[in-house]
Amino acid sequence: MLEFEVLYRAMASRDRRFDGRFVVAVTSTRVYCRPSCPSRTPRRENSRFFRLPAAAEAAGFRACRRCRPEAGPSSPEWNVRGDLVGRALGLIAGGAVDVDGVGGLARRLAVSERHLHRQLVAEVGVGAQTLAISRRARVARMLIESTALPMTDVAFAAGYTSVRQFNDGMRATFGCAPSELRGAQAGSGNGELVLRLRHRPPLPARPLLDWLAARALDGVEAVDDRRYVRTMRLSHGCGLVAAEFADAPDGQAALTVRFALTDLRDVTAAVERCRELFDLDADPAAIGDDLGADPVVGPLVRARPGLRVPGCADGFELAVRAVLGQQVSLAAARTFGARLVARFGAALKDLEGSHPRPTHLFPTPDALAEADLASIGLTKSRAATLRALAKAVSTGELVLDRGADRAACVAALRALTGVGPWTAGYIAMRALRDPDVFPHTDLGLLEAARRHGVGGGPRALQRHAERWRPWRSYAAMHLWTSLPPRSRRSPQESTPR
Ligand SMILES: [Zn+2]
Repeated sequence: MLEFEVLYRAMASRDRRFDGRFVVAVTSTRVYCRPSCPSRTPRRENSRFFRLPAAAEAAGFRACRRCRPEAGPSSPEWNVRGDLVGRALGLIAGGAVDVDGVGGLARRLAVSERHLHRQLVAEVGVGAQTLAISRRARVARMLIESTALPMTDVAFAAGYTSVRQFNDGMRATFGCAPSELRGAQAGSGNGELVLRLRHRPPLPARPLLDWLAARALDGVEAVDDRRYVRTMRLSHGCGLVAAEFADAPDGQAALTVRFALTDLRDVTAAVERCRELFDLDADPAAIGDDLGADPVVGPLVRARPGLRVPGCADGFELAVRAVLGQQVSLAAARTFGARLVARFGAALKDLEGSHPRPTHLFPTPDALAEADLASIGLTKSRAATLRALAKAVSTGELVLDRGADRAACVAALRALTGVGPWTAGYIAMRALRDPDVFPHTDLGLLEAARRHGVGGGPRALQRHAERWRPWRSYAAMHLWTSLPPRSRRSPQESTPR
């Protein structure tokens, strides 16, 4: 049970840092709010607390129109947890129930539907089906507000199977007809969706863009001063995504993303991938509180508050790129990657959009499982590692996303010849979204740590990093980013294998 008095006081403080951690429902108005809602603080006897908007909705409360409790970044707690409930919530957010049903979700998590239901109800108060219904309504509202799509297209893209179901669902969640939610938005007419992605400030754009630019994969990605553009392979088709960072009037970076999709049903998955790529569900205040007091990384955290750990748009692609980057320079890894894309990737068709426009989709696991990888200049052993990785993903033995069981996935990666602890850890950090990984043999981390007073080699650094739990991935990112550009290396292991 949630501790009523603690939550009531948190709400009364109107501190925005509590947003996303819980919502407060008011029995006298049947409306639920985020903790920081500017409306009058409800009386104790009229307040009920829920961990997720979906649970408040299931109990018959509507989302407040003033504070939009359903529209914020998701709970920071679930975002970092790698247990069954955390994994389930991540998959549901990406639309897993709409694609494979609750049965498919349970199979993916290797538990029975009953067990999954019991766990979800115990932790967040509602089951997978209810969470999926709530998600659908949120997606629909986002599309209604930020695009000019006809209502029937909105219904379809959000995952509703009929217009009637759409109308009923929207009325139940928001208390009005879908058309009443459409304001004077700037929807584009050319089939491109333009969405502003929410996040907890601050969000420093420069380090994110620099990180992505230094590793940009020609053909698949393009990065310039303020924009990041890439192709995506999705369940129903493919997409071209252009993210643009701008300074908003409130002094915070605003992130606007343009999506061109061959099939609108992929919109949720595409949005979720962008959220993961830019780490938008992170809670900078909590990370800053924990790391800020540390004598080594504390000054770095204060110098770059809100620094994110870049995720990825596709776990398989990230893993391939991690293997290509082993023991070679960043430039060499990019060269191999570009050759791989040109040789085995598929040309992107049917989509117009941003310039510079990437031209290819990253190769599929199937395409690489049997590919002649020596032809792009890889050594025999590196080629064998990549083929084994591609085969494991193509057969479904290995699934590289935030729904994966992190420990099992890292063990499966380590079982592949040529994948060591550095590579597995780097994949866990970026593809599995583990906030607490520290690749202590990394040359860049060792150098950065030395500059900040932690010498003594990998073992000493590993021991020291214990005090950065549970945010070691963020500590690593701060150390990497602290290196002056000239001495910045490709993250890579120091021990050849
Ligand atoms: Zn409110």
